Amino acid sequence: MSITLPSLALTQDSSPCFPWCAHDGRFPGEHTSATATLTFPRSRRGLNVPTTPLLAAELYWSEEFPQTRVGIGAGDNDGVTLAPAEAEQFADRLIAFAFRVRRLSRLAAGSGA
Ligand SMILES: [Zn+2]
Repeated sequence: MSITLPSLALTQDSSPCFPWCAHDGRFPGEHTSATATLTFPRSRRGLNVPTTPLLAAELYWSEEFPQTRVGIGAGDNDGVTLAPAEAEQFADRLIAFAFRVRRLSRLAAGSGA
């Protein structure tokens, strides 16, 4: 999972944009980055596989809470905003989960069935 950061900083009259900002200006006091998403893989047997992202992550800043946080959302829920250290810990959990998925896939490949 990665976030593509725009290389060109945008400017605004009311509040400065950040180099990572990709917001559309709908909410002038809020700034968000491009969104990184994780979706289910396509599957021949997964007829009812959701197409909406399982997880989404983006940077978030608002005038009401002027600290850059990492917003993590799942489905239609609001999700959480994490401080950078908390987001790092969550990323470590995602990596651990990915290792478990990889281990299961290798067990399946070696199962002979
Ligand atoms: Zn902005």
